[in-house]
Amino acid sequence: MVARRPFSNVGFAFSRVLGINTFVNERDYFSLSEFLKARFGERVHKIALDAGLACPNRDGTRGVGGCIYCNERGSGTGALARGLSISDQIEGSRARLSKRFKAHKFIAYFQSFSNTYAPLDVLESLYREALGHDDMVGLAVGPRPDCIDGDVLRLIRDVAGDRLVWLELGLQSASDETLRLINRGHTVKAFEEACVLARDFQIPVVAHVILGLPGEGMAQTRESALLLNRLGMFGVKIHLLYVIRGTRLAKMYELGEYSPLTREAYVDMAVDFLGHLDPNTVIHRLTGDPHPEELLAPAWALEKAQNMDALRRGLRARGVVQGSLLAAGQGA
Ligand code: SF4
Repeated sequence: MVARRPFSNVGFAFSRVLGINTFVNERDYFSLSEFLKARFGERVHKIALDAGLACPNRDGTRGVGGCIYCNERGSGTGALARGLSISDQIEGSRARLSKRFKAHKFIAYFQSFSNTYAPLDVLESLYREALGHDDMVGLAVGPRPDCIDGDVLRLIRDVAGDRLVWLELGLQSASDETLRLINRGHTVKAFEEACVLARDFQIPVVAHVILGLPGEGMAQTRESALLLNRLGMFGVKIHLLYVIRGTRLAKMYELGEYSPLTREAYVDMAVDFLGHLDPNTVIHRLTGDPHPEELLAPAWALEKAQNMDALRRGLRARGVVQGSLLAAGQGA
């Protein structure tokens, strides 16, 4: 059992510093865009980067075959494999975002596979390359919970300096049984320990959770929200589980061993999750975002605008805002 040291909720501290009162009924949830606008006074865009690193749950170090929903792209863009350096990727995205949104500030987001899974000098060079631009105001790094230690967190903290920085750690589910079933290759305890370590280095954590995992319903989803409240997350990314071609989940789907959520069931779960989530936690994502050419099911996962609309309507219909279903003492 992880020793539960008093957790200074870094997300809460951020919102207080910014003078943001998150528990208001005028909005449904505390969005990342709202947080970034309050912090920087303008819209800030993330640039997803592929550093070409691997994952210990795919290469046999911690597991074989990876998570059952993950394909060989590892949730990434595959940009490095196409010959694009970190700087190339930044230049390309920056030009596109500047033209489309008149964006001036960016956050470098190391997304694909596990972005601390390399020697420290390699990581330092990657992170410094990404931050070597005046308009790069933040660094977000997505490792597995079992791929961080004091040395790598010290590096991230030191390289980031006074920029905004956070870690994106996959919890996916607060149930060890589910984590075994989806072949995550780590436990809930490993996630908790990673959060405590990150807190020691004052690096905020954004947790990833997946709704619609095999065998999970509303009760398990709620448990995940309550665990994240206890750990004091800066942010949460909520994903829909969708079936990608060429994965083990795809085989389960074809054999009738897994049925994806309907849009209505997803909305019900997401509303319940948000209602039980600390209102100071910043919501970084609310749905999945599959590549159309890879998606097997459900087809509605591609309808992002309709899904967001259904979620907003679901929250309003049930009279729920982020944190409003929490019993006293279950928040931060
Ligand atoms: S930890 Fe991430 S990259 Fe590794 S197998 Fe799971 S989803 Fe894929």
